Amino acid sequence: MSHEGIRFVNKEEQARHEDAEKPLSRIAVTPDKVRVKITEGTGLEIDWQDGHKSAWNFAWLRNACPCATCIDERNAQGRKAGEPKPKPTTLLPMYTAPAKPASAHGVGRYALQFNWADGHSGGIYSWDYLRRHCQCAECRFESAESTGTPN
Ligand SMILES: [Zn+2]
Ligand SMILES: [Zn+2]
Repeated sequence: MSHEGIRFVNKEEQARHEDAEKPLSRIAVTPDKVRVKITEGTGLEIDWQDGHKSAWNFAWLRNACPCATCIDERNAQGRKAGEPKPKPTTLLPMYTAPAKPASAHGVGRYALQFNWADGHSGGIYSWDYLRRHCQCAECRFESAESTGTPN
């Protein structure tokens, strides 16, 4: 039997399109409440004006840093936003402290910036970026459905 009839859609192209073009309503990217749980060390929580609630842990946010340097690094390693770096293959892995911000502050009315405990602070996390990477089961399911790549 032959599989020649089967065509594989260019998933990468499809995913890129999804990422860039899915329109979000204004209230979907306008936070109603923003909680950065630095003391608890848990993560960021946002209640959006459309009633949706999102939460991200600090490790995810650190690995999803949207600055040019981190994006380049992720692209080079083929990692998605929020995906942890591959474990070092050395016999004695270096200890890496869990990601945690020393502080966080708003940038204008459109974004949040973290000053990470490791000294990094270049990333501006726009509301749009955060909403597009909502980690709730519903949004993750939707994005897995549309790209065909569950994770
Ligand atoms: Zn960065
Ligand atoms: Zn969600």
